[in-house]
Amino acid sequence: MSFVESEERIALRKAVGDLARAYGHEYYVKVARSGGHTSDLWNEAGRLGYLGVSVPEEYGGGGAGIGDLAAVCEEFCAAGTPMLLMVVSPAICATVIARYGTDEQKRSWLPRFATGEVRMSFAITEPDAGSNSHRLKTTARRDGADWILNGRKVFISGVDEADAVLVVGRTEDAKTGKLKPALFIVPTGTPGFEYKQIDMDLVSADKQFGLFLDDVRLPAEALVGSEDAALAQLFAGLNPERIMGASFSIGIARYALDKGVAYAKERSVWGAPIGTHQGIAHPLAQVKIELELAKLMTQKAAALYDSGDDFGAGEAANMAKYAGAEVAIKAVDQAIQTHGGNGMASEYGLGTLLGAVRVGRIAPVSREMVLNFVAQHSLGLPKSY
Ligand SMILES: Cc1cc2nc3c(=O)[nH]c(=O)nc-3n(C[C@H](O)[C@H](O)[C@H](O)COP(=O)(O)OP(=O)(O)OC[C@H]3O[C@@H](n4cnc5c(N)ncnc54)[C@H](O)[C@@H]3O)c2cc1C
Repeated sequence: MSFVESEERIALRKAVGDLARAYGHEYYVKVARSGGHTSDLWNEAGRLGYLGVSVPEEYGGGGAGIGDLAAVCEEFCAAGTPMLLMVVSPAICATVIARYGTDEQKRSWLPRFATGEVRMSFAITEPDAGSNSHRLKTTARRDGADWILNGRKVFISGVDEADAVLVVGRTEDAKTGKLKPALFIVPTGTPGFEYKQIDMDLVSADKQFGLFLDDVRLPAEALVGSEDAALAQLFAGLNPERIMGASFSIGIARYALDKGVAYAKERSVWGAPIGTHQGIAHPLAQVKIELELAKLMTQKAAALYDSGDDFGAGEAANMAKYAGAEVAIKAVDQAIQTHGGNGMASEYGLGTLLGAVRVGRIAPVSREMVLNFVAQHSLGLPKSY
């Protein structure tokens, strides 16, 4: 067991941080507020191999684990350029295809994930199912060799930037007639597939969409892997999603803490820097402690996932996501408080992150569902729902 990151990981962090800082938070906010995307940064990061660090080497990726991809995501966020699509495209979608896709799906998609050339959204949330994925209604039925997909999804990130969406649907079990989960790759140009932007009170370059799937005809090859492995596939994708969600929050927390600390050292109103006052110093110190704890749990989750322990990774990834989200909310709030009025001035680049950190408590899995998981699986308490 080592608590020290490898030299390669440290070098990767530095390289990613240097690139992201060259763009910076002002760039991010300008793009987000104008309704644009961070394509320049994404494409450059892709060309440099940062988005493909965890894609297997045989498909042109870095061959590393989710721990390295999480480090990349964290560094982008720590520089004030939080690219939400990182949590989805290279983490969930590429991982699921690399682990469970057919040879043809791997050959077709993975080299383009390795370079960031392809972007894929991930769609599980439905208006009527919410946190209860047993109630998913998006259903695929066979029509000859094809699949016909019908359903609705909400809050799906980055669909306008994506080449395809990895849609979680259900198919009918031929023996029992019961519906079971199945994942489909749906190119965004497929007839019958429509999307509409949802207005969000969030400063984000990656927007959210409602999806409408009306008799979307897909070839047999659109089904990821085999029909019977879908549950395992889902777990393969959801753990990286949580680990990346944690690193996303942790990166933003670092960004806010750095700003809060710098301001506390330089701002003086009673003849000494405001950081002299424990009312300012202690909350920043608390954020630092909680940040390091969240980071440790994220690294543990990534190490378990990369070692193939999906079950162990599930518990740690949920805890990491929880801890990351909570510390990010606290960090941004305290950085704003430390800045006084300047905390809400656009020039200081903090108010823009209030929405982003708050989302961490809701998505990709809500705080309450994480607590349900821990209560049931870690503590053995009865299920309440
Ligand atoms: C910015 C943003 C981006 C998103 N991107 C994506 C994406 O790319 N793909 C995607 O599929 N989804 C995405 N989502 C959706 C997100 O994952 C869901 O919003 C989230 O899982 C919660 O589901 P819900 O909104 O349906 O809330 P609901 O399920 O309606 O829950 C509402 C509230 O009730 C609580 N609750 C529900 N059930 C229980 C229970 N049994 N016990 C205790 N409390 C409970 C919840 O915790 C929550 O606080 C995104 C959401 C946002 C805000």
